[in-house]
This record gives sequence, C-alpha cells and structure tokens, in this order.
Amino acid sequence: MSRREGILAEMGLAPIWRLRTRLEVPASDSPAVSGTDSSFEWTALKQAVPACTACGLHKSRTQTVFGVGDEQADWMLIGEAPGAEEDRLGEPFVGQAGRLLDNMLAAIDLKRGEKVYIANVLKCRPPGNRNPQPEEVAKCAPHLLKQIELVRPKLIVAMGRFAAQTLLGTDASIASLRGRLHRYAGVPLVVTYHPAYLLRNLPDKAKAWADLVFARKTMTGF
Ligand code: URA
Repeated sequence: MSRREGILAEMGLAPIWRLRTRLEVPASDSPAVSGTDSSFEWTALKQAVPACTACGLHKSRTQTVFGVGDEQADWMLIGEAPGAEEDRLGEPFVGQAGRLLDNMLAAIDLKRGEKVYIANVLKCRPPGNRNPQPEEVAKCAPHLLKQIELVRPKLIVAMGRFAAQTLLGTDASIASLRGRLHRYAGVPLVVTYHPAYLLRNLPDKAKAWADLVFARKTMTGF
C-alpha cells in the first residue's frame, strides 16, 4: 500500500481515482484580486494584526495567530479561529484538527507551507473555543481579506461555516454550499466542512474528501 493510500485508509476514505466529480462552473485563470509589489503591505499587516485591539478578544489572547505558509500560494485554506494550541503556539491548525487537515492535504499531494497558505477568519482565540460573534468577525475579517488580496491564491478552500459565510456573504449552510464552485472577489472558492467538525462527525469525512478532490480537479483545470 502506498503512503497516500495508507493515509486515506487511516481516514476511512477511498483513493482519489475511485471518485467522480464534476465542475459546475468553468474555472477562471485570472483572479480579479489585483496585486503589486506586496512586501511592504505584508510587513504592515504583520504589524497591525498583533497590535489589534478592535474587539474584546485581544484581552484574553496569548498571542494573535496570523497565518502560515507560502505567501504566493496557489491554495489558500481558511478556517474559523485559533483554538487553545494555536493560541499557545501562534500558528493556525496545529492541534488535533490541524493534524487531520495535514493528512487531508497530504492525500491530495499538498503540504503545509508548500503552495499552501492557511489562515483563519479570526486572529484571536474566542474564550473556551466558543463560536465567533458577528461583531468579532466584522472587526477581524478585513485582516483576512487583506491576506487573500496579498496571497492572490488561485483557489480558496473555505472550511466551515464561518469561513464560507464570511467570504460569500451568506447565511446558507455548509451542506447547501458545498459541491459547487463559488467565487470570492473573482477567486474560485470551494466550501467544505471544518476539520474540527469532521473529528466529531466521522461519516462526513467522505464528503470532505470529495470536496478536496473537487478542489484539486478545479485547480488542475486552470
Ligand atoms: N480551528 C480553526 O478554525 N483554526 C485553527 O487554527 C484551529 C482550529
């Protein structure tokens, strides 16, 4: 059994070649987000986020969790908010959900940091891992939107309802949004379940796997 098949078996998933997907919307190869020399803007953003006191979460955070990976990545994966481990270490998706995410990335030949950038809607941990509040999302989302503008990914994967709803400006459910191609500012966007949700709902792992296959097919078509 190959390494990839081993990873898939551990996740209870079928190999990619046994799955069929289809694209509902032709992919664009020219995202509408524009960019220039961005190093100055990255520096400004990396200073602004740790200094941010726009909502009450700054009072309880250990540190902000900015984002990690290739700043010119083709893939941008977006989660919800840091948990306890992320708050402690300052990096997104380093806890249990992060290990699942890394396995899922490996299954489609991707690796954290290589052509992949990972960020969250919120940069600070909500106490007790409660859901982000609307005013927290409203204050924090501009940081994420700037990150997207600077990375200029070819594809966004929105993981969970906070990422999907924030970027798509909808209150629709994940179930109703997944399985088709959306766009944020012209960038193709695929919706899938949040890894932490998948840890609690194992049967939906197969759906998340199908979403990643769909995302990869979309990317391959560019
Ligand atoms: N859940 C998220 O949405 N983001 C993280 O960084 C960790 C867990």
